[in-house]
Amino acid sequence: MKFSPLYSGSSGNCSLVSDGVTNILVDAGMTGKAIVSALNDVGADPAKLSAIVVTHEHSDHIKAVGIISRKYNVPVYANAGTWKAMAPLIGDVAMRNIRTFVTGQNFYIGDIDLTPFPISHDAAEPVGYTFFSKGARLVYMTDTGHVSPALRETASGADLLFLEANHDVDMLKNGPYPYQLKRRILSDRGHLSNDAAGELLTGLYSTGARRVILAHLSRENNTERIAYETVRARLSEDGIAEKDFFVAVAHRDRVTGIFEL
Ligand SMILES: [Zn+2]
Ligand SMILES: [Zn+2]
Repeated sequence: MKFSPLYSGSSGNCSLVSDGVTNILVDAGMTGKAIVSALNDVGADPAKLSAIVVTHEHSDHIKAVGIISRKYNVPVYANAGTWKAMAPLIGDVAMRNIRTFVTGQNFYIGDIDLTPFPISHDAAEPVGYTFFSKGARLVYMTDTGHVSPALRETASGADLLFLEANHDVDMLKNGPYPYQLKRRILSDRGHLSNDAAGELLTGLYSTGARRVILAHLSRENNTERIAYETVRARLSEDGIAEKDFFVAVAHRDRVTGIFEL
């Protein structure tokens, strides 16, 4: 399985999961043009997309869901709560391309086994996903204000974890956002901080997790360097050396790379 974060951050999210035959977009929260250009950058053909799977209906995740589905005849998968909230926002999607799953129940797209799991976020029925293919497991976990024991369990032993590190708590508190927005982001249904991501990762080391891509960084309240260094420092505190835990940071505005697992 190959995983390519195309865009990740508060201004737009889209990733590609592929086993070479089945090509799944996770969210399509940029313009259609930007997504097609990023797909070209990783050598993928938008005409060969198998599906778009949606995490939740916020605009930074669904901006081009309707556009790509219509243009390339791509099925869109979401749970009932997300469909209800998203449908008025994305324009017409052909009946044959409206696919619904039940949160917590696994399903297949081609040979890739997906399990959508609930996250803690201020949307209708937000989910993260685990992707399982040929013995490898990718866990996609962003837009969660809180890491519950169930989420910790889901992330345990992941071969690759795509994990939110949205903000530096001090930058957010001292930054320009209005009070209500700061409260929303810091709440249990908001976004995960660099500290919280680091804390989760130290706990996951003993489960065999060795690779993480930090994701969904805020433009105003974080930088790639601060996210990386905060998480790295937390791992070091527990004696986990750089060579023992691979930490990458997803770019907000361009392809991060192609990660194999
Ligand atoms: Zn988001
Ligand atoms: Zn969101």
